Amino acid sequence: MSNIFSGGSRDLDLSNGATAVFVDVLMLAVSDLASEGWDFRFAALLSLQDQDVMGRGAVGFDLAEFDWGATERERARAKDFVLRAAALAASGHRWSELGYHPPRVQDHLHRFAAMVESFTPPADSGAARGFPSPDEAATASCARHRVLSALPLWDGCFLCDRPHQGVSGGAMGVSRPR
Ligand SMILES: [Zn+2]
Repeated sequence: MSNIFSGGSRDLDLSNGATAVFVDVLMLAVSDLASEGWDFRFAALLSLQDQDVMGRGAVGFDLAEFDWGATERERARAKDFVLRAAALAASGHRWSELGYHPPRVQDHLHRFAAMVESFTPPADSGAARGFPSPDEAATASCARHRVLSALPLWDGCFLCDRPHQGVSGGAMGVSRPR
């Protein structure tokens, strides 16, 4: 089974294991870059890509189904945010905190970035299905790992949930979009 991340005429078909790594490294980057409301909604979308919650091979998203924004400026800014997150993730940002070496994820991130780069966010968000609303934004930040998560679905961030990380349910604080 695999998961498909698509946009325009391109797609990225990842195995379950590769999907988990891809989402983890993107979340680490997004957690440090997020500053505006849309960013925290994208973080919530990432947190929904947890196969332990949603089911193996049951995740993935289509860029055409994002709510990119009402204005040209908002859409350009949202697209730029995703590209900056992908670039930061591909640079190896915080990979040392994963507890494992992420194989091939750099290639997946580069292909994802190329997909986003070539995608034109639609002006009409009528196709936006399943993209987290402002109310569903992942504005909770795990105090232990400084990683975003969406309350109230999860008690901690994805690092807290790792069995070998020991702690279940880190102390949560709330960081608001600046
Ligand atoms: Zn945590």
